[in-house]
Amino acid sequence: EPMGKVDLVQVLNAAVELTEARLRADGVDLDWQPPNEPVFAWGGEVRLVQVFVNLINNAADAMADQEGKRIQISLRTGPRLAVSVRDTGPGIKDPEKIFEPFYTTKAVGSSEGMGLGLSISYGMVQSFGGDIRGANTPEGAEFTVELDPWREDE
Ligand code: ADP
Ligand code: MG
Repeated sequence: EPMGKVDLVQVLNAAVELTEARLRADGVDLDWQPPNEPVFAWGGEVRLVQVFVNLINNAADAMADQEGKRIQISLRTGPRLAVSVRDTGPGIKDPEKIFEPFYTTKAVGSSEGMGLGLSISYGMVQSFGGDIRGANTPEGAEFTVELDPWREDE
């Protein structure tokens, strides 16, 4: 997939659309208020959708066994664009390890994957010159994807 001008609002809408049936079935309350204007980043659209689908599914997985499931997606503009996906789950157990291939805390043979989602996402975001980080908040986990804005003169 070639890299180029990607509307992050459309990317996030697509990721939400691809996960909303699952979120509804799980009883997850989703907070995503798409801005009215496009926000153009430098990247690959298909890969970016995949990254955010991974993050949303991970957030839902983390909250599977609890009440009060909430995912909040927000988009911040500036010299770098930042998307954060926040959940109200138990938080990340071992933040140092989560981007390693095959690191998973999920049951072996579970349908949820085998510990590749974040390592693949990391590689995809790096290939755009971006960054992805995971951290704990007082409420749960927060993953932030930073990307360069698309510039007219590129
Ligand atoms: P998988 O989903 O197959 O386990 P990933 O690479 O997507 O693989 O995630 C690796 C691990 O990172 C997960 O098994 C989990 O321990 C941790 N993790 C990822 N997202 C979250 C989250 N939102 N909250 C808590 N832990 C998380
Ligand atoms: Mg995963």
